[in-house]
Amino acid sequence: MLLTACPGRQTAGPPTARRVALPGTVGQNTAAVPELVPMEIFKEFVFEAAHRLPNVPPGHKCARLHGHSWRGVIYVRGDIDPHTGWIMDFADIKARFDPLYQQLDHNYLNEIEGLENPTSEVLARWIWTRLKPSLPQLARVTVHETCTSGAIYEGP
Ligand SMILES: [Zn+2]
Repeated sequence: MLLTACPGRQTAGPPTARRVALPGTVGQNTAAVPELVPMEIFKEFVFEAAHRLPNVPPGHKCARLHGHSWRGVIYVRGDIDPHTGWIMDFADIKARFDPLYQQLDHNYLNEIEGLENPTSEVLARWIWTRLKPSLPQLARVTVHETCTSGAIYEGP
């Protein structure tokens, strides 16, 4: 039998061959997603910005003005709403991050308050500190300065 439906999605066809009973769902067959299932979701962002690092040793290449295509990820942890099937709308994460994005994109990071020494570590914490009040479910912020280098911050 060819199964084309995504596992876990309700379809009008014959029952899928694989159905796993999750805790709290035994004996129930109406909810595709059980209540209070904790999970993380994420929203990625990209912005362009220049910086220089003022506190590196003499001759260090990062002391020179240069730019990056910064990439990052905002992680949100919460329970899956049994009705919507999501923790929150990805668009809400984007909207709450947008004021910070507007400060960062196509700007010189060193001129932004709190980013006078804009390392990936400082930037990840800067984003966390400013985003957490409007996004209490924030679980983690990652910042990628290059394809191979970055920082992860999970709170104070
Ligand atoms: Zn750099």
